[in-house]
Amino acid sequence: MERKIYIVGMGPGREDMMTGEAVRALDQADVIVGYTVYLELLGQRFQGKEMVSAPMRREEERCRLCFIEAQKGKRVALVCSGDAGIYGMASLMYEIGREYPETELVVVAGVTAACSGAAVLGAPLNHDFCTISLSDLLTPWEVIERRLKGAARGDFVIVLYNPSSRKRRDYLRRACDILLRVIEGSRACGYVENIGREGTRAEVCTLEKLGDREVNMFTTVFIGNSDSIILNGRLITKRGYGIERNIDFRRNH
Ligand code: SAH
Repeated sequence: MERKIYIVGMGPGREDMMTGEAVRALDQADVIVGYTVYLELLGQRFQGKEMVSAPMRREEERCRLCFIEAQKGKRVALVCSGDAGIYGMASLMYEIGREYPETELVVVAGVTAACSGAAVLGAPLNHDFCTISLSDLLTPWEVIERRLKGAARGDFVIVLYNPSSRKRRDYLRRACDILLRVIEGSRACGYVENIGREGTRAEVCTLEKLGDREVNMFTTVFIGNSDSIILNGRLITKRGYGIERNIDFRRNH
């Protein structure tokens, strides 16, 4: 009997932001496993399916459940928001999968918050960038701090995931203070809340102001590099095309 589990990135929320491959994997599944919030976001289309929701923080349990369902001969899809391999369940599934060598795992790529949020803001990722999660649930704060400093020194555009939660209200402020030791206060930044969901809200501001902004666990934050600018309310990272020169060129021809 073929045993396969699809680990599906569902994108930021709306069905039309899911890849065709992800929709197909969910269409073909007998059972869909995921957080309640994500299962609700999936909406009407998959309503006929058996849905198994598992509470937050019980990741290992949720993963094991997928293998148990697959052993019963069911086609299982585990859904994660964005991409399942970016602060998602994909690696844990492979780790646990060592105990279930007869089950094949297939990761289906999804649109991660860095990409969907960038599209809302303008074009902030148009050069080298990195993502850093501010969650210290599984990563010591010293490691997060070291990576923030390294990214700032490397002049990367920085995308912050998990910038805040009920227990970590001041983490964005702390991260900004660390970045401000290397980066000037006037650096162009932005953030987007509820990408692809009801209540999408995007703002641009300087790094100096960013630390005081109200963000939550559904916000993704962008800190520009030294070539980022705010242009008509959009956050843009220039790639270096030097169009000022080209404008002169056009005037002369
Ligand atoms: N696997 C997900 C990330 C999970 S970590 C992905 O690839 O997008 C959770 C963090 O992702 C949130 O705290 C937030 O920073 C970001 N995020 C995920 N979905 C989001 C959305 N719809 N709007 C804004 N930020 C989102």
